[in-house]
Amino acid sequence: CAKSEDRGEVRVFDVAMADSAQMRRDLELELRQALVRSEFELHYQPLVEIDTKRIVAAEALIRWRHPERGLVPPATFIPLAEEVGLIVPIGDWVVRQACADATRWPDHIVVAVNVSSLQMRRKGFAELVLRTLSVTGLPPERLELELTESALLEDDDTTLRNLAGLREAGVRFAIDDFGTGYASLSYLRRFPIDKIKIDRSFVTDAETSADALAIIRAVAGLGTSLGMTTVVEGVETEQQLDLARGEGVDQVQGYLISRPVPEDGFSSLVSKDPG
Ligand code: C2E
Ligand code: MG
Ligand code: MG
Ligand code: MG
Repeated sequence: CAKSEDRGEVRVFDVAMADSAQMRRDLELELRQALVRSEFELHYQPLVEIDTKRIVAAEALIRWRHPERGLVPPATFIPLAEEVGLIVPIGDWVVRQACADATRWPDHIVVAVNVSSLQMRRKGFAELVLRTLSVTGLPPERLELELTESALLEDDDTTLRNLAGLREAGVRFAIDDFGTGYASLSYLRRFPIDKIKIDRSFVTDAETSADALAIIRAVAGLGTSLGMTTVVEGVETEQQLDLARGEGVDQVQGYLISRPVPEDGFSSLVSKDPG
C-alpha cells in the first residue's frame, strides 16, 4: 500500500471491485490507517417535522476524507468494514463524534446514528454508548440509534441485552430502510422501537406505483397505531412532501430539505430554523 502511494497511483476501492484478496487487504489497511489519521468525518442531514416544519433531528452520515480520492461515501467502505470487523472501532468513533457534536445544538434536536448489527451483537456495547453519553454530557433521550431489519432479525441474547440496557437509559431506536429487508411485523411488537424510517425507494416510486403508495400508507398507519414516529426518507420534491403529509407521516428527510452537510453547516441550518 505504501508502495502504491509512492507511485502516486490512485485506485478506486469498492467492495464489489475488491475482488482479489490483495485489494481487500489493501483497503482494510487503509481503513485502519484512516482511523488513526482521523480521516473520517460526519455529515449531518436534518429530519423535519411535517406539521411544524421544525428541524427535530439530524442523521450522522460518515464520510472518508481520503488524501487522494477526496470525499468517499460510506457505500464504498462500510460493507468491507463490517466484513473485517473494523465497523466496531469505526462505529465507536461515530458514536463519540456524533454525541460530542450534538451537545452544541439546541436541546430539542436529537442525533441519529447508524449502528451495524455487529456492534449490537458485541458485549458491552450498551455500556460503551452510555459511557460516551456521560462523558459528552448528552442526555440519552437525544440519541437515536438506527438499526436495520437484519440487526433485529439476529435477535441473539447480546443484541437484546444491549437494546434493553440502552432503552432503559432512555436511548431511542429507529428501524432504518423499513420495507427493504425481512419485514416481519412481529419485531415491531417484540422490540422497543420508537421510529420507523420508510425506505427511500417507496417514496421514489409512489407517484407512479399504486403499490408503493399503498405500502407508505399501510406503514404510516401501522406506525401511528403502535405509537411510533414515522419518517419518509429520500424526499426530493414538494409533491413527495405533500404525499408524505397526506399519508399522515410525521417527519421527512431528503434533499428537498437539505443534503447531508458538515457540522458547521448543520449548526447554521439550525440557527435559521423557526424552532
Ligand atoms: P441510510 O442510513 O439509509 O442513510 C440515508 C442515505 O440516503 C444517505 O446516504 C443519504 O445521503 C441518502 N439520502 C438522503 N436523502 C436523500 C434524497 O433525497 N435522495 C437521495 N438519492 N439520497 C438521499 P449516504 O450518506 O451515502 O449513506 C448510505 C448508507 O451508509 C446509510 O444509509 C447507512 O446505511 C450507511 N452509513 C452511513 N453512515 C454510517 C455509519 O456511521 N455507520 C454505519 N454502520 N453505516 C453508515
Ligand atoms: Mg440511517
Ligand atoms: Mg435509511
Ligand atoms: Mg437507505
